[in-house]
Amino acid sequence: MTDLDHNNRLRGNRRSTGDHGPAFSPAAALWFHAERPHRFAMLLVGLISIVTVFCIGWGACTIERRLVATAGHSLVQTATDAASKLETIIAERQGDIEVLTSSPIARGHDRAALTAYLYRLLKSFPAYQWIGVTDAEGRIIAGTDPGTLSQNRSKSRWFQQAIRSHGVTVLDARTGDDAKNNLAITLTSPVRTLDGAFHGVIAATVEVPYLVDLLDRTTRVLRGVEWSEDSHIEYQLLNGYGDLIADSNLRQQGRLNLRDMELPSALLLATSERGFVEEKHLRRLAPVITAYAQVHIPQASTSLRWGILIRVDRDSILAPIRTFLQNLMLVATLIIVPLAALLLWLVKRLHREWHSAKQESDRASQAEAALKARAEALHALVDGAKRMAAAPHLDELLRELTEIARTTTGSRYAAVGIFDEDKTSLIRYVTIGFDEQSARAVAALPVGGGLLSALAQQTEVLRIDDLAVQADVLAAQEGPPPVTSFLGISLRSHGQLFGQLYLADKLSQDGSVTAFTELDDQILLTLSAQAGVSIENLQLLHESKQRAMHDSLTGLLNHSAVLDALSREMVRAEREGEPLAVLMADLDHFKRINDTYGHRVGDVVIRDAAGRIREAARRYDLVGRVGGEEFLIILPGCDERAAAEFAERIRYAIGSESIESQAGPLSVTVSIGAAAWAPGQPPLPHLLWEIADQALYRVKHNGRNGVAVSTLPDKLSCREVA
Ligand code: GH3
Ligand code: MG
Ligand code: MG
Repeated sequence: MTDLDHNNRLRGNRRSTGDHGPAFSPAAALWFHAERPHRFAMLLVGLISIVTVFCIGWGACTIERRLVATAGHSLVQTATDAASKLETIIAERQGDIEVLTSSPIARGHDRAALTAYLYRLLKSFPAYQWIGVTDAEGRIIAGTDPGTLSQNRSKSRWFQQAIRSHGVTVLDARTGDDAKNNLAITLTSPVRTLDGAFHGVIAATVEVPYLVDLLDRTTRVLRGVEWSEDSHIEYQLLNGYGDLIADSNLRQQGRLNLRDMELPSALLLATSERGFVEEKHLRRLAPVITAYAQVHIPQASTSLRWGILIRVDRDSILAPIRTFLQNLMLVATLIIVPLAALLLWLVKRLHREWHSAKQESDRASQAEAALKARAEALHALVDGAKRMAAAPHLDELLRELTEIARTTTGSRYAAVGIFDEDKTSLIRYVTIGFDEQSARAVAALPVGGGLLSALAQQTEVLRIDDLAVQADVLAAQEGPPPVTSFLGISLRSHGQLFGQLYLADKLSQDGSVTAFTELDDQILLTLSAQAGVSIENLQLLHESKQRAMHDSLTGLLNHSAVLDALSREMVRAEREGEPLAVLMADLDHFKRINDTYGHRVGDVVIRDAAGRIREAARRYDLVGRVGGEEFLIILPGCDERAAAEFAERIRYAIGSESIESQAGPLSVTVSIGAAAWAPGQPPLPHLLWEIADQALYRVKHNGRNGVAVSTLPDKLSCREVA
């Protein structure tokens, strides 16, 4: 399983976990799947919605409070007006009674006139129910109801009250025993003679319903002017004990005590003159605003300390503003939703544009970086090519190649190997960066199989990102690979494989190992081509140098090369304090061979003789062809005696066995002159050669096929060996 498969599987698992996991709400799913800017937009929309709802709610609360206050004040005003009207009506009736009390007609004995007066008074105000006057004993002497005449009311409350008081007293409906029903109040006043003696009592009953009509009218006006019919406006009239005397709906006079029922407005009425309160309707339990106002009746009994309650349903007051707010919310929603959609769309679009712009800029900077890297690599390659071209020999060239390949690709390890002719083993192997163990491990990669074999088979680069994963390539290799990433190429010249260049463990900027890139491929391709050319040039140079130094017929050093070698060896011999000898060899009567068999046969003879001299010489002796069939042999470390022995060996090698040619076997002899130089003598190579030449001349002169040895002239000792 590859990493990719593994990752896919992981992703797949995660997805399937998500499918079967806890169910998210659509909003949560939207949130979790959204990108960051979209979440931000969603938050913003949420915030705007919350602020809008809060503002509308706050505004609604403020407006509601104001509306309630306005309604409350308006109701208080109405209740106060109604109360003062009641007060005025009662005060006027008190005035009526006071006027009558102080009038002589009440104290007089003209009952007919008194009765007429009482009837006029009854007609003057429609709410009068009955008016009567008693004598001092309580017997009714005049009244608006003939049926009550002569009746004794001395036991009645109003008579008893009048006896005790000095002015008009107002008694409530309950105490009025002359009323036809409870809904009447009674005004009573004593009549006294001018000297203050009790003369009788005047009493009058006033219908409460008439007074209540006043409240009815008031609430009707309220309904018509300020609120609608369904506003549930109602009033209640209470006496001083909190008893309900009258109300606009039920007419449950006297049956309920609202203070005992702890109705807030009824309780407040006992302590406060006027005001309003929000409370629950006793029966409907709906929220109501109740205004209350006390009615002040002078000289009234406790029960006549009336109070007026006027209430209206809170909801009916707030209904218009609530409808308005609902519409406002609807409008706000209609505005916010498209706005939110627009905002989301804008954010999405901006994000997309930003994303693509960023990608574009990333691409541009990547391209710039790639271009820069390419330019740097090219620069390094040009430098490297120059250095490789200037490398004087193969080892240095390979070192340069390895170093350039490593530095331009940024690899930890680099190696180059050059194969032998059979391509089975490496004759040169240069590594950089490998520690001893890794170098050994990489060098041990089998050339005939495995990684390097795979590399040898292809002309392009072989790039492996992770050697540990490429088990198939490394099948032939044992143990874990010492490196991770690998990049290699075969080195070829004219299509012929001659080596391999490979790099391992490319390093990233943070020092970790990473995979090689396509740029590295190209660098390696370029380097391999350059290396091929440079190595070929080096070979050509080597060959031309060889050609310049060697004789083409025999392969021996040519005239100038052997003289250079003699000079060098002379310097070395002097430095090391070693003797040095030279031999001059010349084939005998060679002209005859040429003349007899031709030049081609002569060439064969020269080449064969040269080969025999080379074979007879030691590895470090230097042999050169200095004339047609003349050879100079430099013998480092040889003194006179050794030189003479050596010359004899050569003479034997040539003369002992005939040379095979097109013209058949030819017997050839050679004459050799030797000269030896010993430490302390003047280091003159030309002189040494000259002396050897002179020795040769002596051999020729003495009949040829022999050896003569000379030393330098200042210690001249010449022996001829026949
Ligand atoms: P001596 O014994 O005195 O050396 O007699 P010689 O005939 O060998 O005389 P010498 O050494 O002077 O002759 C050299 C001859 O070798 C002259 C020339 O024709 C011949 N020769 C020189 N170079 C070549 C060559 O490259 N090939 C052939 N075939 N002959 C050459
Ligand atoms: Mg010669
Ligand atoms: Mg000769």
